[in-house]
Amino acid sequence: MSDTLVLEGLEKGYNRGKPGEVQVLRGASLSVAAGEVVALVAPSGAGKSTLLHIAGLLDTPDAGSVLLGGRNMDGLGDRARTEARRAEVGFIYQFHHLLPEFSALENVTIPQRANGLAKPEAEARARQLLTLVGVAPRADHRPAALSGGEQQRVAFCRALANGPRLLLADEPTGNLDPAASDTVFAALMALVRETGMAALIATHNLDLAARMDRIVRLEQGRVV
Ligand code: ADP
Repeated sequence: MSDTLVLEGLEKGYNRGKPGEVQVLRGASLSVAAGEVVALVAPSGAGKSTLLHIAGLLDTPDAGSVLLGGRNMDGLGDRARTEARRAEVGFIYQFHHLLPEFSALENVTIPQRANGLAKPEAEARARQLLTLVGVAPRADHRPAALSGGEQQRVAFCRALANGPRLLLADEPTGNLDPAASDTVFAALMALVRETGMAALIATHNLDLAARMDRIVRLEQGRVV
């Protein structure tokens, strides 16, 4: 398997040289292969979000490298980074952030339209994704009419709508009860298996982590 994501020697601090300075990452390195699901486990404040943001090209490290699909992302300009992020990365957050005034189907269609796809094709793909995660019967409902678990499954479909090669998730089941969390997690795994994406999933939930392919921990700014 080839490595979709390679992080090499990442360093990241906040408020450098000022009071309140924190060094969050201290040489963190990690590779995730295509089709592999890796759990990133660490206590709150250890730097999981920082690492995910750097991996997803939302933030830059003070030192170290990010390779996506074998391409080195260091030193890219803002525009090239934004383009690479749009094309290559899907994000899932703890809270779904769906657009409230649009239906589930539209929420999954919109990013594809923004990416230049025609409406019939975008809707067909959206229905396909919603079917895979078991929410197709609710496609025409707005988020407020869906359960928490359904909302989160729609958010997965939206994250995957443009076929990213890397999926990054920050506590994707963090606000769900155990039953919904199980359903949502099963949907996530089904999507990853179906698409062959690489996935890096930050979680506190050790039961879920144990069902992924591999667990890594973030300790004192390094991946162990
Ligand atoms: P986690 O996701 O594991 O909870 P974070 O990556 O959010 O951890 O944060 C790691 C540390 O960096 C925390 O101590 C946090 O307070 C600090 N931090 C995160 N973002 C900023 C920021 N923009 N400015 C200053 N400190 C930050």
